[in-house]
Amino acid sequence: MKVYLDNAATTQIDAEVIEVMCRVMNEVYGNPSSVHGHGRQARAEIEKARRTVASYLKVSPAEIFFTSGGTEADNMAILCSVRDLGVKRIITTKLEHHAVLHTVDAVDAEVEYVRLTPNGHVNLEHLETLLQTGPKTLVSLMHANNEIGNLLDLKKVSELCREYNAYFHSDTVQTMCHYTFDLKEFDIDFITASAHKFHGPKGIGFLYVNSKVQVKPMIHGGAQERNMRGGTENIYGIVGLAKAMEVAYNGLEAHQSHVQGLKTYMMSKLREAVPEVEFNGDAEGNSLYTVLNVSFPDSPITEMLLFNLDIMGISASGGSACSSGSNVGSHVLAELERDQKRPAIRFSFSKYNTKEEIDYSVAQVKTLFEKQARMD
Ligand code: PLP
Repeated sequence: MKVYLDNAATTQIDAEVIEVMCRVMNEVYGNPSSVHGHGRQARAEIEKARRTVASYLKVSPAEIFFTSGGTEADNMAILCSVRDLGVKRIITTKLEHHAVLHTVDAVDAEVEYVRLTPNGHVNLEHLETLLQTGPKTLVSLMHANNEIGNLLDLKKVSELCREYNAYFHSDTVQTMCHYTFDLKEFDIDFITASAHKFHGPKGIGFLYVNSKVQVKPMIHGGAQERNMRGGTENIYGIVGLAKAMEVAYNGLEAHQSHVQGLKTYMMSKLREAVPEVEFNGDAEGNSLYTVLNVSFPDSPITEMLLFNLDIMGISASGGSACSSGSNVGSHVLAELERDQKRPAIRFSFSKYNTKEEIDYSVAQVKTLFEKQARMD
């Protein structure tokens, strides 16, 4: 049996998305910047996709800029804020994705890190204290943490940012199309998305820029994306992203309850199989339903657990998805008050996972620990 439990790293592309991408690859090959019929046909596909994205977020199509993915969108929000909006300070946390952490290090602004609660939530009182003084600020806080799943109260943070006149960027890469976003409900300056996290293609994402905010391009070149991002558009990616969003929104409630059910089920099955397991972050509280980060007891078997699961056909992740392979350990878990010796595995789920797959995976974990117990 092959089981894919690494959906926070990337997801399987929906068949309907592949179909629409293939149609465009076959039929729509004009350059969207060309003024002739073939070009206009390609342009129409892109603008239709933009309207689809905007309608789900309840924003204007002019506020959506397609990018090569979440990393570029995060870079654009941060770099442009510092360069174009007079931002002199960035408030963030040490739990952000590297697309944010490394970008705030690279720009010419002071960086302050908000304190965290013991289970990894942003300490909002400390955020407010930081906001009360200091220069023009960008607050960059992710909606859901990609490793532990903790969720941020976007509305509350946006209200704080407005009260203290700060800009607000949220990396919504892990939550886009997993929750609905009504950007009329709260005021935010930038959010980011990546299609491959919601059953769309890799290499395409978008940045939402609130129309109240005026920034200049990060990638210079042609006049694409209304002069905001030079370069011939990834038309197949763009139509694929919009289709993936449509498919996701059509089945959102059913998928939420199915996937949340799998997460809850795996937690209870793991507790039965290995009673010493611990769940990192706020797994049973305000947590993204697709992510479960598990610490196993410190034993020789645990060190090899991910490897052994891989041999049994189960794909999960040992740390941050996007840095896997570099084997540097998790910067997120290192920040949490937890027993550092206990190795952790992130299981992350999608609508395509089944209860049988969870049963199989937990059974393999159980067998490995039983084997270890016999050797002790
Ligand atoms: N932000 C978060 C929270 C992520 O999980 C990821 C990818 O893992 C990214 C940004 C980067 O997105 P992309 O792979 O589209 O560059």
